Amino acid sequence: MKLYNTASRKLEEFKPLGEVVKIYTCGPTVYSDPHIGNYAAYAYWDLLVRTLLANGYAVKRVLNLTDVGHLVSDGDTGEDKLEKGAAREGKSPYEVAEHYIKVYLDNYAKMEFLPADVIARATDYIEADMQAVDLMTEHGFTYETRDGVYFDTSKFEKYAEFARLDLEGLQAGARVGFSSEKRNASDFAVWKFIQPGEKHAMRWDYLGRPGYPGWHLECSTIIHETLGEPIDIHTGGIDHIPVHHTNEIAQSFAAYGHELSRYWLHCDFITIDGQKISKSLGNVYTLEDLAERGFSPMDYKMWLLSGHYQGTRNFTFESLAGAQARRLAWRARIAECYQRDVVSDTDAYDKVLAAVSNNLNSAEAFAVVDSVVLGLEDWRKVDELFGLRLMADTPDVSDDVYALIRERDTARAEKDYAKSDELRDKLLAQGIALNDTPGGAVWYYNS
Ligand code: AMP
Ligand code: ZN
Repeated sequence: MKLYNTASRKLEEFKPLGEVVKIYTCGPTVYSDPHIGNYAAYAYWDLLVRTLLANGYAVKRVLNLTDVGHLVSDGDTGEDKLEKGAAREGKSPYEVAEHYIKVYLDNYAKMEFLPADVIARATDYIEADMQAVDLMTEHGFTYETRDGVYFDTSKFEKYAEFARLDLEGLQAGARVGFSSEKRNASDFAVWKFIQPGEKHAMRWDYLGRPGYPGWHLECSTIIHETLGEPIDIHTGGIDHIPVHHTNEIAQSFAAYGHELSRYWLHCDFITIDGQKISKSLGNVYTLEDLAERGFSPMDYKMWLLSGHYQGTRNFTFESLAGAQARRLAWRARIAECYQRDVVSDTDAYDKVLAAVSNNLNSAEAFAVVDSVVLGLEDWRKVDELFGLRLMADTPDVSDDVYALIRERDTARAEKDYAKSDELRDKLLAQGIALNDTPGGAVWYYNS
C-alpha cells in the first residue's frame, strides 16, 4: 500500500510498526447536528481501514468524541462549544454531549462505517490529562498564566516542522487579541482555569483551582492510554494540520518523549455549489435533508468515494444524482449475476484493490469497477471494500417474481404487449425494474 504522508509531504510505501496497525482518528465535537461535510473525513478513513483489512492487515482503531474543552476559536479564546450548546438548548453540557453522541453514532451506522475498536470520550480521560500536564511541566515545557497552563512552543525545537509554520510571521501578526501573558503567539493552553464568576459546568480541580483540559490534549492522552505512541497512522481534516495536530505532536513528545505517529493522513474540505458550508449560506445539509430529496446515506457515500480524499470536492445535487445512478447501475449488474452465470475478468478484483491501495484512490478504483466484468463473489468483495450495501440492497428475488418475469418474456415473445406491459407495471410496483435483452429480461431493484 502507498499513502501520502503529510509529515514528509511524500507518497510513501506503507510499512506497519508492529503486527497490528494502530490508527487514531480525530473525531467530532458533539455539540450540534453534523452536516454532510463532517462525514467526509470518516468516509475516507473508513476506506483506509477497509483497504488495510483487504490487504491482510490487522487493525486497531481509536476514535475520540470531544465532549469538553473545544473552544469556539482555535486560539484558546471564546466559549467552550459544549457550554455553548448547553446554553442554546437549555440543557447541561453532559446532556448535550449525550444527545449528539447518539446522533453521531446512529449516523455512523447509517453510513456503514466500520465501528472503531475504541470510542473514547474526552471526559473519561481527565486524570490522564492532568498526569500529562504534570509530565510536561516536569520536563520544562509549560508555564502558568492567570488563565491556564500553557505549552511553551519555543521549548520544542521541531514545533514548526510538521506544518512548515512561519513562526516569525505568526508572532508578527499576533498582536490583536494576543494575551500579554502568553510568551509566544503559537503557545497554547494545555489546561484552562475557570475564572471567578465564569459559568462553566464542566470543571475539575487541578492545581488547587477549578478548570478543564485544553482541547488538543485529549488526543495525546487518549492515544497514550489506548494505543501507545508511536502509532502507525493518525488521520484528520486539513484544518487540523497547523494547530491541532502540530500541538498534539508537541505535547506527546513533551510528556512521553516519543514521536506520536509514523504516518499522517489529511482529507480536504468539500464545498457545496462552489461555496463553503455555512449557516449564512443556508447550505448546512444533514443526512436527513438528503433523504428528503430522495438520496440515501449510501448515495452520499458513493458520491464521497467517487472522488479522492485529497482533492477539493464540490457537492451539487446533480453530481449526487450521478452517484446514485452509478450505484443503481452497479446493483443492476449484481442483480444480473443472480440470474446468469457471470464470470469475472481475469484479476478484476485485484485491479480494484490495487487502485484503492494506491493512496486510497477510490475514484480510480470506481473507474476500474465500471470497466471490468465482475461475478457475484467478486462483487461481494468489492462491497466489503467500499461498504456500500450493494449486496444487502440487491437481494435475489423470490421464485414468484422469477415466474412473473418469465411469464412476461412469454407474453412478449407472443407479441401480447398489453399483457407484457401489465406484468411490467406489476413488477415495477414491487420496485423491480426490467431490462430487456436478447436472452430475456433481467431485473434489478429500482430503488
Ligand atoms: P466542526 O465541528 O465544524 O469543527 O467540524 C469538525 C470537523 O469536520 C473539522 O475539523 C473538519 O475536519 C471536518 N469538516 C468540517 N467541515 C467540513 C467540510 N466542508 N468538508 C470536509 N470536512 C469538514
Ligand atoms: Zn485530535
